[in-house]
Amino acid sequence: MQYDHILVRYGELTLKSGNRNTFINQLKSNIKYALIPLTGYKVNANRDRMYVEITEDADVEEIMKRISKVFGVHSVSPVVKVEKNIDQIKSSAVKLARDIDAPGVTFKVDAKRSDKGFPYDTFALQQELGGEILSNIEHLTVDVKNPDYKLLVEIRSDAAYLYSRVIKGAGGLPVGTGGKTLLMLSGGIDSPVAGIEVMKRGVTIEAIHFHSPPFTSEEAKQKVIDLTRIMAETTGEIKLHLVPFTDIQKMIHKKVPENLTMTSTRRMMLKIADKFARQIDAKALVNGENLGQVASQTLGSIYAINAVTNLPILRPLLTLDKDEIIIKAKEIGTFDTSIQPFEDCCTIFTPKNPKTNPRLDKVESFEAGTDFDAMIEEAVANIETLTISKHTDTKQEFDELL
Ligand code: ATP
Ligand code: MG
Repeated sequence: MQYDHILVRYGELTLKSGNRNTFINQLKSNIKYALIPLTGYKVNANRDRMYVEITEDADVEEIMKRISKVFGVHSVSPVVKVEKNIDQIKSSAVKLARDIDAPGVTFKVDAKRSDKGFPYDTFALQQELGGEILSNIEHLTVDVKNPDYKLLVEIRSDAAYLYSRVIKGAGGLPVGTGGKTLLMLSGGIDSPVAGIEVMKRGVTIEAIHFHSPPFTSEEAKQKVIDLTRIMAETTGEIKLHLVPFTDIQKMIHKKVPENLTMTSTRRMMLKIADKFARQIDAKALVNGENLGQVASQTLGSIYAINAVTNLPILRPLLTLDKDEIIIKAKEIGTFDTSIQPFEDCCTIFTPKNPKTNPRLDKVESFEAGTDFDAMIEEAVANIETLTISKHTDTKQEFDELL
């Protein structure tokens, strides 16, 4: 069957009646971005759904796959659009049925009619089309309770639409409709997943990464660029801010007892993130923390670390198990990059016995003797910013060019 449109159903957009146009326009532009560089389509957005017109040579499956991954999309269907004329509808229904025709296969016609002026009501239309299919197709039989396939027919104001497949979309809200956050992005498994989770709720992210050259390598930096590129694939370009963290880490190790260095390191990262978030007008920080996963993520540690900021910190992975996070990382495609074995600034300086229940007053007093604020200011002033999109070369592609 040659489809001529892809029907895109909106997700929770219906709840946001006041901002509906903003939501739809954002979704449309996100879908267009996701479809680059494919050809053979035109995106038309209506108030209650979207129709993507496709030409004969378009790769329908690839277009549908990409659209279904865009946040804000509830589901997609390849559809045939015909005039509201019973003969044309019948002939399209038969063509659609031919695609599923095989011995033993059952079907049912499901009709919906929003145009009440159409001369057939839903029951009569189902009867007509069911009969037409049975008399033209060799094997199919009807099963109204538990059919293998449903042939769906919608009689709308502009035309009739027929389809048999409904592909689940990513759900959520269109990225770009919910304000901005700053994601603390390490090279690990968790933080890219955390970023995608908040984007699913419509917010944009910029990413901040702390690195400590020469203790951390170029490969580790490239890994974070690659992770950002994967996150940008369905959501649009992402700014990645690289913070030089070497001097601060060295100073922490000079001034703070070893078992509290992890706590202090995280506090300094958070102070920098806080300062920078305000500069870029991000309304919250996001991290990949997970309750109890490691010493720095016990309740006691979170308490002592969180004390340096009063920005909201979103922790979408807080209560998940590691295997649940891994499943998500594989789904979004970041897992293989995350497990590349390049040292992060935290792993290099990891103390042997970090405190799992650090005392806030003690950490504060060890930090008090040093002018960390000046160092933080300097680090923020020296942030290197990259803009990453799905067109950014991966390391591998880049090497191939040389
Ligand atoms: P994983 O736990 O899979 O090794 P992770 O990214 O969760 O990776 P953790 O050591 O658990 O790493 O750190 C907890 C959180 O702190 C991270 O999810 C991330 O948000 C933040 N973080 C850690 N290291 C960095 C870094 N170098 N730059 C930016 N954020 C970081
Ligand atoms: Mg983690």
